[in-house]
Amino acid sequence: VKEPPRIHRLDESVVNRIAAGEVIQRPVSAVKELVENSLDASSTSISVLVKDGGLKLIQVSDDGHGIRYEDLPILCERHTTSKLSKYEDLQSIKSMGFRGEALASMTYVGHVTVTTITRGQLHGYRVSYRDGVMENEPKACAAVKGTQIVIENLFYNMIARRKTLQNSADDYTKIVDLLSRFAIHHIDVSFSCRKHGAARADVHSVATPSRLNAIRSVYGLLVAQNLIKIEASDNDPSSSVFEMDGFISNSNYVAKKTTMVLFINDRLVECTALKRALEVVYVATLPKASKPFIYMSITLPPEHVDVNVHPTKREVSLLNQEVIVEKMQSVVESVLRNSNESRTFQE
Ligand code: ADP
Ligand code: MG
Repeated sequence: VKEPPRIHRLDESVVNRIAAGEVIQRPVSAVKELVENSLDASSTSISVLVKDGGLKLIQVSDDGHGIRYEDLPILCERHTTSKLSKYEDLQSIKSMGFRGEALASMTYVGHVTVTTITRGQLHGYRVSYRDGVMENEPKACAAVKGTQIVIENLFYNMIARRKTLQNSADDYTKIVDLLSRFAIHHIDVSFSCRKHGAARADVHSVATPSRLNAIRSVYGLLVAQNLIKIEASDNDPSSSVFEMDGFISNSNYVAKKTTMVLFINDRLVECTALKRALEVVYVATLPKASKPFIYMSITLPPEHVDVNVHPTKREVSLLNQEVIVEKMQSVVESVLRNSNESRTFQE
């Protein structure tokens, strides 16, 4: 009979690297965390530069409030955050970050350099991090308003991850897709996304008061001219409380794949149940079953949303989710029917 093997504690550096690999699954997850940090910092302009699908370089620059000099030593430690102090705060959290894990994780699987300046300062500071700690004292440097974060050599110490990412279609497409989604929701912020060495940006949005303008500039005229505005709300505490507004494609729109851009309380999330439910409505309502384009922004009381169900915060769970999904289905269905009937009538 085999002796039971001894149990020992893993090295902290191993634990941290494993955890970091879950938070930062691929280059696009790093970009999402960095852009969300820039949004949390009240930026009005965010630009992203990417080299080699994000494996060589990811650079996110913003014009937000910056990071205090005194906070730089703990900035990239695990579980350091300015957005949460007690567990109960999670119930009412409005910021996109709260775990204080994103920057730390990046330093465990890549080389991170932060340049930042706060208001009223004559110069900024630049400092590099590795495995959660500063590599050197922050150096004074010239800086424009805000923060710039650079990640180099992502997954340099995770050979298998790096290899699969190098072989798979590059993450740049995913990054462009991500910024397109942010750009049509946060229409008071201008976004740009560019590949290193390219003359033109692949996403280039300017702040505009009109959502439809934003959609036109990011997704193009063919999408924008085939959209219908939708709105719905409910305020019945016994079933559901929400407000929703958005745009959905009409029967002239043609696409092979569904585009579903969903924000819940300003958080970019995925909800497979809702996506499937709405696809079903399209198939049932429109004879020429094209896959839809859907932009939806749903606001709910913060205490009805659990934002903490996924390490990358990609999914949320909602109180009364079935009720809400059903309501969205019926709103979309009636809007589609009406538009289809008025069109047939015109013809
Ligand atoms: P979280 O966003 O969950 O707080 P992060 O690791 O993403 O954790 O960031 C840690 C902290 O660093 C944030 O709480 C914020 O105070 C600060 N920070 C990160 N990025 C920026 C930025 N672009 N501008 C200003 N502050 C930032
Ligand atoms: Mg964050």
